[in-house]
Amino acid sequence: MINLSRTGTRMPVQDPAERTNNFQEVAEGYTEEMAVREALRCLQCREHPCMTEGCPVSNHIPDFIKKITEGEFEEAYQILLETTVLPAVCGRVCPKYLQCEGNCVRGEKGRPVAIGSLERFVADLHRKRVQAGEIAEASPANEAAGAAGKGKKVAVIGSGPAGLACAKDLSSAGYEVTVFDREKLPGGVLSYGIPSFRLPDEVLRFEIEGLTAAGVHFETGKELGKDISIDALMGAMGFSAVFLGNGAGSPMGLGIPGTELTGVVSAADFLDRLNAAGSEEERKTVLPASGKVAIIGGGNVAMDACRSAVRCPGVEKVCVVYRRSEKEMPADPAEVAEAREEGVEFIYLTAPLEVLGENGSVVGLKCQRMELSDPDASGRRKPVPVAGSEYTLPVNVVIEAIGSRSENEGVDGVDISERGLIIADPETLSTSRAGVFAGGDTVTGPRTVIAAMGAGRKAAKEIDSYLKKL
Ligand code: SF4
Ligand code: SF4
Repeated sequence: MINLSRTGTRMPVQDPAERTNNFQEVAEGYTEEMAVREALRCLQCREHPCMTEGCPVSNHIPDFIKKITEGEFEEAYQILLETTVLPAVCGRVCPKYLQCEGNCVRGEKGRPVAIGSLERFVADLHRKRVQAGEIAEASPANEAAGAAGKGKKVAVIGSGPAGLACAKDLSSAGYEVTVFDREKLPGGVLSYGIPSFRLPDEVLRFEIEGLTAAGVHFETGKELGKDISIDALMGAMGFSAVFLGNGAGSPMGLGIPGTELTGVVSAADFLDRLNAAGSEEERKTVLPASGKVAIIGGGNVAMDACRSAVRCPGVEKVCVVYRRSEKEMPADPAEVAEAREEGVEFIYLTAPLEVLGENGSVVGLKCQRMELSDPDASGRRKPVPVAGSEYTLPVNVVIEAIGSRSENEGVDGVDISERGLIIADPETLSTSRAGVFAGGDTVTGPRTVIAAMGAGRKAAKEIDSYLKKL
């Protein structure tokens, strides 16, 4: 029986007036009844473009959804676990509108099947059942452990999505995997870059603990180029291969006068400090000043920053300043809509020229209006300054959210591009150094969590082939 509803079952969310006073998760999750109703909208397409075209880790989407329709929720979870290590995380933070849901056939006439919400539902239900002692934790790694990897060790640098996905697949193939990360807690950008109202820490920790339980070893507080080197890893430490999945977490600055003033902060630092704050009360004191806050940028990090700022006490107004129009803004439209519901103002076609200060602190942002040029050969419309359109926006805090870059100075013997990215063969993900592979943001520059996971899985396959030949 197919549910013919074109609008589907929307997940309940906290009321905007209520949620701007807390950092608790906005989306409240499906009930079992809601999940089954939504799952029944899936047509079980033979071609299933949601999976083949849309999911970088190739989740078996029709199969896990079918299990939901049959009320076999744990079986649905086990199907997901064959291909992903972070279903509860991906169900929340994937840009589904560009990925699986963007390719769902039901989206041609109405809303696509809410694949991410269903993925999240089965993973959350599994976690709750494990925590309640009703079922045992599933082992994502050891069940399929093969003999190929026996006795061989692989080092994974970086415990973000690329590193975790690579570690999971290599562990499943029987390798001894150690993940190194410079931060205290594993998770990379998932730990320090995504606010708790989108991804609660408990959800991430549970999925990482699943890897630990399956035999993946984590060494945190170890930075490549400082505490460890590739020479040491592949020499005295006895690793046969290394995967570099150390992301691109260093924030880029605006490069305009005044960014040294108190009150200018990068979105990465702001979100990191918010996530590191131990309590709801501590989170509310993270902004360097209160009053009016401007976020510069139009991506998902800008959305996370503006929605976090709205939740900080003493903040009267939050605006997002973006130099193109809403149409060109790369952020997830659902995030933009939720930010708007929370009172964030969007100022389009505007570029910052200078941060203005008094007594060392921010008092304003000098801006200039922009207009879009005619499309160039690539179809892209460039923002062009409008002469004489400068004006000042009165703000006390400026949050830079214009992107991030990779820091790869300490990668011994591995070729780095002029942009600081690791150069890896697009087919094999091998680098200029034998036995060293790389993937995810450290190679491509900032992309999505799920693209990084896809690269981690691909790297695991290539590393396995490489080691089998040794
Ligand atoms: Fe969709 Fe992401 Fe889940 Fe794949 S991992 S099915 S792209 S939400
Ligand atoms: Fe189901 Fe949509 Fe995938 Fe078809 S494309 S199998 S309807 S989720």
